[in-house]
Amino acid sequence: MSLTDNCGRPLLNLRISITQRCNNRCVYCHREGEVLRANRSSEKMTVQEIVRFAKIAVELGIARIKLTGGEPLMRKDLPKIVSGITLIEGLRDLSLTTNGLLLLGMAEDLHKRGLKRVNISLPTLNTDTYHRLTGGNLQDALSGVKAAIKAGFCPVKLNMVILKDVNVSDVPAMIEYAAQNRVILQLIELDPINVGDDYYATHHRSLDEQERLLREKAVSVEQRPYMHNRLIYHLPNVTVEAVHPIENSDFCMHCTRMRITSDGKLKPCLMRNDNLTDILTPMRRGADDEELKSLFIQSNMLREPYNKSA
Ligand code: SAM
Repeated sequence: MSLTDNCGRPLLNLRISITQRCNNRCVYCHREGEVLRANRSSEKMTVQEIVRFAKIAVELGIARIKLTGGEPLMRKDLPKIVSGITLIEGLRDLSLTTNGLLLLGMAEDLHKRGLKRVNISLPTLNTDTYHRLTGGNLQDALSGVKAAIKAGFCPVKLNMVILKDVNVSDVPAMIEYAAQNRVILQLIELDPINVGDDYYATHHRSLDEQERLLREKAVSVEQRPYMHNRLIYHLPNVTVEAVHPIENSDFCMHCTRMRITSDGKLKPCLMRNDNLTDILTPMRRGADDEELKSLFIQSNMLREPYNKSA
């Protein structure tokens, strides 16, 4: 039985940011809506604390957990976090979002420990554009994609944030690459948070045109009610998902997500930082599971759609 909020939305997904450190510097990064801390060199939450939060969440009916950051693979103890979470009874799905740069050396071990799905950020297949956007090396990211496929992750999803005048023309090549490698492509509309008004005004582009083209080519179109009602386009040889949050009340009405920030705060909405609930401090003061559960329940009641229907 899952929790529901004041709008009747079930709470089914938890996104845990396990670090603010990152080995890329993506110019478009929303940083999971977090404010950057001055000292990011060490992690705020221990393995045991993360696993305990996950266990409490699962006991409250949140059966799907995603690890994010920062770059989760920057944490040397990530394998222990994965092992700890996958052992939780009742967990249905643990996944991870990564830039893939360090996956080559870690994919097999993480998969053996029970991580079954990964999303890999890949905004382009152009070496120069990739470097300009992320500061990183495209070949390392592509090696990460290959390593994820070889290790048996299923599905592997490529996350492509769409940026006007930067990578829109790369979409056909990305679709082709996804088809050749039998992975799913996820087109993501740029979110404004932490991006800067000028950057957003210059580079935000709605997915309408891409979705029109996808609809023309699709053999079927699926809708995921528990994933922001997002549309999934099944083309003859590849699947493409569209994540379309901006001014989209339908997206918000179908949000089933809670976040935990890298410093241990429950965060009901990516777009807001005025309704966080500190759960790490009470845990460190010795709060028992019932007390921590009640903080989750209170925070769930602070969830509300960011974009409301008129
Ligand atoms: N470093 C990891 C990565 O690259 O996946 C995890 C952190 S990153 C913030 C998590 C996801 O957010 C990535 O899939 C990325 O594409 C997406 N993302 C980052 N900035 C975004 C923005 N401004 N709008 C929409 N999605 C964004």
